[in-house]
Amino acid sequence: MNAPLHREMPEGTLDAARALTHATRQWDSDIVKQITDYITIPAKSPGFDKDWAQNGYLDTVLRNAAAWVEAQKVEGLTLEIVRMEGRTPVLFFEIAATKPQSSQTVLMYGHLDKQPEFNGWRSDLGPWTPKYEDGKLYGRGSADDGYAVYASIAAVQALKAQNVPHPRIVGLVETCEESGSYDLLPYVDALRPRLGDVDLVICLDSGAGNYDQLWLTSSLRGMASGTLKVEILTEGVHSGDASGLVPSSFRIMRQVLDRLEDSKTGRLLPASFHCEVPADRLAQAKATAAILGDEIYKRFPWAHYDCEGSTAFALPTTTEPVQALLNRT
Ligand SMILES: [Zn+2]
Repeated sequence: MNAPLHREMPEGTLDAARALTHATRQWDSDIVKQITDYITIPAKSPGFDKDWAQNGYLDTVLRNAAAWVEAQKVEGLTLEIVRMEGRTPVLFFEIAATKPQSSQTVLMYGHLDKQPEFNGWRSDLGPWTPKYEDGKLYGRGSADDGYAVYASIAAVQALKAQNVPHPRIVGLVETCEESGSYDLLPYVDALRPRLGDVDLVICLDSGAGNYDQLWLTSSLRGMASGTLKVEILTEGVHSGDASGLVPSSFRIMRQVLDRLEDSKTGRLLPASFHCEVPADRLAQAKATAAILGDEIYKRFPWAHYDCEGSTAFALPTTTEPVQALLNRT
């Protein structure tokens, strides 16, 4: 479809409707096929595949993505698969600025390694067997995070198709994210001179509230993990002999955990885990809750049990949308 000849838009402004048409066409005609192929490759993160180097799946998905990016012939783009000794590889691309007087760089980030298979798939679905049904593509790793490199390049192409100037853009696509990204920082250090003066990082690796609008993640819950070990005897003894006299290691563990968390409400007890929610974040949560409403908690697969005409079901910690958003953040 040709764009209308006369548009009342200042030069250099993006026509969002046209960009959407452009991206949608590219997505449906090409990218879905790429991601479908990606699903078939068990490119498990090194934490779930100790033989990742010999298996070569991470390499394959990185090379496939690189080949696709190159085939797009994006003006001013160069790319390289960078390999540091003993580390998972990364894809690095660089797109020259088309905006004059722009010295800063936009960094786009994504990853191509996957979580392991797990079970619980519907009988006709599977982690490495892509299936397209009702506008949804099923399989392991496509949304998290196989789409990222394609979305990055498609976005740049949408700008270029309308001659909208852009700053310098670099892309870093890693293959260690699902294992905690332990290889990422060494690459950031090694590539630092080529990253340039990064002013904006677009991290294409998060969720979306719905599919009706563009979403931006400003924060996500973090995680602190460790191993808790309780030792009360030096070796195993018969339960009939020892229990009641030897304190239960499980009970001791519960007491230790209760110092951290109120086991009735889930509230973390040490004051250092708490701070005042900034006013702007509260305003953002309210605006988001107004759009998403009950879906904030209804979208989770709550357990339920039907018995003699009535249903017992699990409930969230709150059903008030703003509070629900704050609780999960
Ligand atoms: Zn991810």
